[in-house]
Amino acid sequence: AQHFMARMAEQDQLGAFLATDAEVTLRQAAAADARLAAGNGGVLEGVPIAHKDIFVTKDFPTTAGSKMLAGYRSSFDGTVVAKLAGHGAVTLGKLNCDEFAMGSANENSAFQPALNPWDTSRIPGGSSGGSAVAVAARLAPAVTGTDTGGSIRQPASFCGITGIKPTYGRASRYGMVAFASSLDQAGVMARSAEDCALLLAAMCGPDLDRDSTSLDVPAENYSLALNQSIEGLRIGLPKEFFNAGVSADVRTAVDAALKEYEKLGAKLVEISLPRTELSIPVYYIIAPAEASSNLSRFDGVKFGHRAAHYTDLIDMYKKTRAEGFGDEVKRRIMIGTYVLSHGYYDAYYLQAQKIRRMIADDFQQAFQQCDVIAGPVAPTVAWKLGDKSDDPVANYLADIFTLPSSLAGLPGMSVPAGLGAGGMPVGLQLIGNYLKEGQLLNMAHRLQ
Ligand code: GLN
Repeated sequence: AQHFMARMAEQDQLGAFLATDAEVTLRQAAAADARLAAGNGGVLEGVPIAHKDIFVTKDFPTTAGSKMLAGYRSSFDGTVVAKLAGHGAVTLGKLNCDEFAMGSANENSAFQPALNPWDTSRIPGGSSGGSAVAVAARLAPAVTGTDTGGSIRQPASFCGITGIKPTYGRASRYGMVAFASSLDQAGVMARSAEDCALLLAAMCGPDLDRDSTSLDVPAENYSLALNQSIEGLRIGLPKEFFNAGVSADVRTAVDAALKEYEKLGAKLVEISLPRTELSIPVYYIIAPAEASSNLSRFDGVKFGHRAAHYTDLIDMYKKTRAEGFGDEVKRRIMIGTYVLSHGYYDAYYLQAQKIRRMIADDFQQAFQQCDVIAGPVAPTVAWKLGDKSDDPVANYLADIFTLPSSLAGLPGMSVPAGLGAGGMPVGLQLIGNYLKEGQLLNMAHRLQ
């Protein structure tokens, strides 16, 4: 813990952390030492990790990257945090992210952007940007993140690390500040699939009393899934993921990784996910719709910020929300409220739900022809800070390859594939069928 705390102080300019507390971290580390000395340490005993600031923690403040929650402290730990601590993990602090996890560049953090350690003039990706920066810059050996539409996979790709988003429901959402509840999923980012396997096993499992959408499937020992042969495995390449929308450098790195799999005996087969493009409008209707509902709780009464001056209750709501939320969050609340409103619900929200189902069905069709799906994580490498910050649609379009599997609730991961333009990392995306996290981790491990 002391080693990483020194690294964190040294690399403070990267903006990876939103909250640290040396006293708390050292106290947790001493308790871990005592358990180890007594011979009853857990699998992660004394391992220092850090959490995306979207998981509530009682020992550190939680902001979700928003001014709305500045100064907020939860009275309890979220399930993922509690489970990891229960296995002995020590917390280094809370990691920067886009406000309420809405974004692809970490530029929507209300506090500061996080910088890509490979080139600090570039964004690290988002929304789990601080998480990716912390691992890539060796400020923490492993971290948590959340992925609603790509927020683990895309920053992992942009920062050259390994990240996995498990099947929707695999890890409890209890104590995760809600963005789009039917899509939000916790996961892990680390330097290798081996490390991801250890943490993922510790954080998954049913939590039905507190998250009714958590799956009633016991946690698996993912480490046992590593080192399996992939001889004869069929890797499906969706033709929609390999078209002109992918930049040439990303394509080259992805192709090189796929060649490695061929050498290991896997077979590449062309498949189709015909509604890939539709995943963008579908996601950007459903996610804002759910967000507009989830964020109604931030009213100046129950949590966080409240406007200092107001005339009556309605004025207090208005001023609190006008002051507390950033532009992107306001944009999504407006879109979400619009698509759910009477007269537009059928035209937008209901249509989006129908296409979401078709997208999930397309994957099941595809899995008739292949065992796992592979492709790029994002169309390009990490872009320069400011390049897309004034253009929300440009940000949305870059999510094209991560949104389809999120809408279907499938597990996905990003594994380093090589370097692209500007010497920036490129990730290979692997998408598995439901509950096939072990297979994905094994495949990622084969490349490492
Ligand atoms: N970039 C997507 C968005 O802005 C995904 C974010 C996420 O997965 N949390 O909504």
